[in-house]
Amino acid sequence: MSKSLQAIRGMNDILPEQTPLWRYFEGTVARLLDNYGYKQIRMPIVEFTELFKRSIGEVTDIVEKEMYTFEDRNGDSLTLRPEGTAACVRAVLEHGITGGGQVQKLWYIGPMFRHERPQKGRYRQFHQIGLEVFNLDGPDIDAELITMTWRLWGELGIRDAVKLELNSLGTSESRGRYREALVEYLSAHHDKLDEDSQRRLKTNPLRVLDTKNADTQAVLVDAPKMADYLDDESRAHFEGLKSRLDAVDIPYVLNPKLVRGLDYYSKTVFEWVTDKLGAQGTVCAGGRYDGLVEQMGGKPTTGVGFAMGIERLVLMLETLEQIPEEISRQVDVYLCAFGEEAELAGLALAERVRDQLPNLRLQVNAGAGSFKSQFKKADKSGALYALILGDDEMAQQVVGFKPLRGQGEQQSIAWDALAAHLATCVVQG
Ligand code: ATP
Ligand code: MG
Repeated sequence: MSKSLQAIRGMNDILPEQTPLWRYFEGTVARLLDNYGYKQIRMPIVEFTELFKRSIGEVTDIVEKEMYTFEDRNGDSLTLRPEGTAACVRAVLEHGITGGGQVQKLWYIGPMFRHERPQKGRYRQFHQIGLEVFNLDGPDIDAELITMTWRLWGELGIRDAVKLELNSLGTSESRGRYREALVEYLSAHHDKLDEDSQRRLKTNPLRVLDTKNADTQAVLVDAPKMADYLDDESRAHFEGLKSRLDAVDIPYVLNPKLVRGLDYYSKTVFEWVTDKLGAQGTVCAGGRYDGLVEQMGGKPTTGVGFAMGIERLVLMLETLEQIPEEISRQVDVYLCAFGEEAELAGLALAERVRDQLPNLRLQVNAGAGSFKSQFKKADKSGALYALILGDDEMAQQVVGFKPLRGQGEQQSIAWDALAAHLATCVVQG
């Protein structure tokens, strides 16, 4: 196939054999969010470029080098969203739904776009489920977000493989004081820093903490600690969060170097990390962003949220073999009919059964075929039972009921009794 007719590098098709696991994952998260009282919001995939520059920050990796930005036919600069928070804040402001201190607990799901180097767990189109809470400023809601994800890992069977890392970035004032101290220290060791960190020292010094370079990491060992610069309020908030996590027995490690890649965070930041996915180890990340709404032109409105990467979590489920058995079977019953008259009767019978058992996964053979070929398809479909309509069955107004997975002999069931019979032998999801 010519290259121009292939998918764009780093943008993947999710094939039919993969979608059951995606739907299981997404369904599990959606149910959990419903149960905790969060409401879904859906934003456009494209926004004005300015929105992301203003919210994410001009000197972040995302805005500097990862955005898909283009001019539309009006000459407006538009960008495929690289994350969800900016658009969510834009939406709540535009519709006034956080005004007057109204609490909003929102979540969203969908594709995000970043021009990164594609590799396992890192793509150019990837998918997130994200969540944002507005106008709740205490550590109780930070704790709820973390507790909810902890429950999710439990439900998915991956709790033992993830670890919670926590830090507090303080208010913008205390962070400013820390930034000064850090810059002073790092400037004194300028020659020992890697090139990227030397550049970041000028543009976004806190990001130096995040370096993967061993020499720079060595310099950082004796660097000033953010915790020593926290203001009293942020310190109390952080203690409040930790005591709540202790109360529900959620383990965490403090990571003073956790700064996150976006400018808008304050106070709590956290990441759920795993060592099961190689270098792309963060499966869920977030924090508090109390200044963002105001920075974007709204009234002071606190916010806290997180986003999880669906590709990475689906990979986790595969790697840890936490794939529930029921999702691999898509068909309960497969109906085979031989001859035109049987096919018509089969169609009517199938619809009657579907009326009575709306959750039954009943597949009717299409494309006719010999006895042998229809049975082969029935078996391949994964169905538990085949229903058979041939000349004999037509004459007696019955249907052959044949277990395909070795659960007993074939029997004949009267058409009228079929739905009741199926109800007793197929567990309906
Ligand atoms: P990373 O450090 O891995 O680049 P990030 O800090 O840029 O992640 P966030 O912006 O916090 O990521 O996005 C939240 C989550 O979305 C990440 O923890 C990750 O699970 C997922 N994610 C981010 N970028 C990608 C990507 N390019 N491909 C797949 N998943 C991604
Ligand atoms: Mg990134």
